[in-house]
Amino acid sequence: MQVHTVGDGTPEVAVVGAIHGDEPCGVRAIERFLDTEPDVDRPAKLIVANERALDRGVRYVDTDLNRCLPGDPESDQYEERLAHDLMAEVQGCTALGIHSTVSYDRPFANVAYLNERKREVAAHLPVEQVVDFTVVADGRSVELPGFLDVEAGHQGSAAAVDNAYDCLLAFLRSTGVLPGEPPAPDPGYYEVTEPIYKEPGRTYHFLGENFVRVGPGDRYATVDGEPIVADEEFWPVLMSDEGHDVLFGYRSTHRGALSTLPDVDHSAEAVADEATDD
Ligand SMILES: [Zn+2]
Repeated sequence: MQVHTVGDGTPEVAVVGAIHGDEPCGVRAIERFLDTEPDVDRPAKLIVANERALDRGVRYVDTDLNRCLPGDPESDQYEERLAHDLMAEVQGCTALGIHSTVSYDRPFANVAYLNERKREVAAHLPVEQVVDFTVVADGRSVELPGFLDVEAGHQGSAAAVDNAYDCLLAFLRSTGVLPGEPPAPDPGYYEVTEPIYKEPGRTYHFLGENFVRVGPGDRYATVDGEPIVADEEFWPVLMSDEGHDVLFGYRSTHRGALSTLPDVDHSAEAVADEATDD
């Protein structure tokens, strides 16, 4: 793991690239940012997480880093140990993880256990959608109290690097590391309701578009050429033919604009903050 620090003092803001080694856009964005020799108002960490997987151009070496947090320093699996080290680095930080996908070209944000701190950051990223993964939470970075992810676009594309860089700048503005106003696009909020798994050995083809409503009775995919019909409405997320061996994608519910969500902060952290307010 590489940890670059800008500014003086102990950083409370972090950007993390290469949580998945075959998604290099975050690392390229971090390099682009460091090359500008930025003048910052408060310190930040720029972290290249899974160097071993990045070097090999693979998602992970032993196990998925974004499914094994908080990790284990004694594990014989590389990513389990790395997860433990990454947790120590981002402890107490507001953090942005940068990813990319094979299912969608434009950037969108991922959260879980939404609180006001995460909502504030998500509201100022240059994205049209925020996806809540709380129901499938299983050792992902977004489960941490100050951690959000962005999916910057198509894996390996130049556009994903540009999007990642825009998200990095917006994040550093909204956290006060960089001067200037971040964007405020008021993205739509999509709550994942369930994963859709593939049956082994069968060929899946997605007929719809991610974030575009599928209605009851709509044919949204084929399996071995046979249509699959939706029994109720949903909004597809990360759905793709080839993106994953066993996962076809997720069903979600569109909750409306992020700004219209009711008060979201029921975390223990928020309750503690409230109690110590003057
Ligand atoms: Zn990823």
